[in-house]
Amino acid sequence: MFEQTVAKYPNKEGLVDLRLGTRWTYREWNDEVNRMASTLLAEGVDKGDRVSTVLFNTAEFATTLFACMKIGAVFNPINFRLTSQEIDFIIKDASPKVVIFEKATAGSLEGVASESPHIDFWSIDEPDLSYARYYYQMIEGSDTSRPDCLIEEDDLYAIMYTSGTTGTPKGVLHTHRDMVDQALVLTATLRLTPQDRGLTVAPMFHCAELHCTFFPRVMVGAANVILHHFDAPAMIETVREEQISTLFAAPTMWNMVLQEDFSQEDFSTLRQGLYGGAPMAPALTTRLHEALGVQLLQAYGMTEMGPAITALFEDEQISKAGSAGRALINHEVRVVRTQENGPSDPDDVCAPGELGEIVVRGPSTMKGYYNRPEATEEVMYKGWYHSGDIGTFDDDGYLWVSDRVKDMIISGGENIYSREVEDALFAHPSVVDAAVIGEPDEMWGERVVAYIVSKEAVTADELEEYCISSSSLARYKRPRRYEFVDELPRNASGKLQKFKLREQFERHI
Ligand code: ATP
Repeated sequence: MFEQTVAKYPNKEGLVDLRLGTRWTYREWNDEVNRMASTLLAEGVDKGDRVSTVLFNTAEFATTLFACMKIGAVFNPINFRLTSQEIDFIIKDASPKVVIFEKATAGSLEGVASESPHIDFWSIDEPDLSYARYYYQMIEGSDTSRPDCLIEEDDLYAIMYTSGTTGTPKGVLHTHRDMVDQALVLTATLRLTPQDRGLTVAPMFHCAELHCTFFPRVMVGAANVILHHFDAPAMIETVREEQISTLFAAPTMWNMVLQEDFSQEDFSTLRQGLYGGAPMAPALTTRLHEALGVQLLQAYGMTEMGPAITALFEDEQISKAGSAGRALINHEVRVVRTQENGPSDPDDVCAPGELGEIVVRGPSTMKGYYNRPEATEEVMYKGWYHSGDIGTFDDDGYLWVSDRVKDMIISGGENIYSREVEDALFAHPSVVDAAVIGEPDEMWGERVVAYIVSKEAVTADELEEYCISSSSLARYKRPRRYEFVDELPRNASGKLQKFKLREQFERHI
């Protein structure tokens, strides 16, 4: 896929890294990739060996990725925001031959590096660390010809760890075929062309950025501009300066963009703003649309599915605000009745309007979790991936995601879907961010507690009054307690880490 693009567009701008100040054509990028591939081979990395990265968004990430693909090494991008214990866990689980990192992530690797003399650590920044070698010294002078390796479509391409939103991260196995299929579908969904200029601002280690936008852009020969990490003013400026036409950002990033003053900015080149990976409140979608005038497109999915399985298109953003849209080409989505014990039966399909578990299948379904056959068996039943998300279809065939099974609150025997409460609170003009969880309650089993980040001072009574007057929430769904906080715990991909809020609560009692 990469080489086909290189052959078609050798002199077209392929990769721009604003941190390095480099602007590579596809041919120059390919030379760099081949140099890295020959170096890995020379260092004894064979087909099937793992290569991990603990990198922000960098050209070296993009180069290592394609170099691994060319030699059949299994690419393992690690979330740089994890704690050193979590990174330790993933490195020990994936057991890579090489780990590539940068200065900004070195602090998290000291422990695992000292315990793992068999792993080779390469730094992309000038190294002053005894355990690391210098990436650029390694690849300097290496062969730029295509490595002679046979890679087949069912060979593993990556181990990508899930976000760990609901527990310990699991290593999701994807093949080359999975990645190509996902990129093909997204190319059509996003209507990408070689004239597009894409910005990578969401973390590349996450498959939402990598598979939904980066690969599809490379597949069509579009230009790829990389921002080292998300920063709202930098993102806004780069859109203007680099004439960006398409980008993906997590809902929380779009929310931060909205807090900026962009009255003098020009978004006219940006034909498409993608969001997904976590729910976005309808109120936020409307605010974004009005303030920026950018056409939005939402994707819903999970690492196990490659990730995208549904999309809500630009012209549906207002009429179906809050929905996750419809299944992508060649993907199937069902909402099925949940079972008391054991997995939901994919053939026990709910009627429109009835809530159940979302189960899915498609061409990019994972090949399983690395070293965890029981966990794989738990989520794959009758060939369908069981998402652990609760949702429903409406009469028009649109999917609505209500909650994760694990986040649903049960109060007085009634199910409360946290997303509905969060969306209602988000509609209050002073609310910048909101999360609700269930706290134990002697009488009701659980009660709803809301954590609020607000722009200007707002009280619990005012929010309660707002919920009543807007008639948006039935009495039993309204929060019993409000906590006002400076920020909510979110991971690098913008997902709410509700387990941290629950831990915080448990520490208080
Ligand atoms: P873990 O399995 O380790 O807890 P995770 O489930 O957060 O991690 P991801 O694959 O990153 O792993 O996230 C997938 C989940 O993100 C989905 O199951 C869903 O709950 C949520 N999600 C993704 N996209 C959307 C969206 N557009 N709207 C609502 N929720 C979304």
